[in-house]
Amino acid sequence: MTRPGRAARPDGSGPQGCHNGGMPTPLRIHADREAGTLAIGWDDGHETTYDATQLRWLCPCAYCRGEAGLPGWLDSAPTLTAQQTRLIDIRLVGNYALAPSWGDGHHTGYYTFDLLRHHCPCPECTARRAAAESVAGTATERARETA
Ligand SMILES: [Zn+2]
Ligand SMILES: [Zn+2]
Repeated sequence: MTRPGRAARPDGSGPQGCHNGGMPTPLRIHADREAGTLAIGWDDGHETTYDATQLRWLCPCAYCRGEAGLPGWLDSAPTLTAQQTRLIDIRLVGNYALAPSWGDGHHTGYYTFDLLRHHCPCPECTARRAAAESVAGTATERARETA
């Protein structure tokens, strides 16, 4: 059984995002189902803790996020139920992503380490993101539009 890689680019621009240089990787991953948190200890010493609701809102799958310019389910700002934000399990995908399973059965979101680190909700990272956005906020959006 092969899984069609939905990220394949029809314009044949080749694989992107393979620049792994210096990207932090998790040394420890701890999902606390009771508390509903996911804690990650990174190899650069940083600590990231998501609560399950934050994590659910970040789900990067096509259903939640949309694709090909179409909005996804989360873009409609739904009211998440307790089931939808209940962390059941977390599975490691290869050595690049985590796939949480949710109380409503959803499990198709592959949260890459890059994404998890990028959205780290700690005060330090939140402040750094705010600063970066005010300087060069359009860079990533422009890259996406040309895809
Ligand atoms: Zn999803
Ligand atoms: Zn952080």
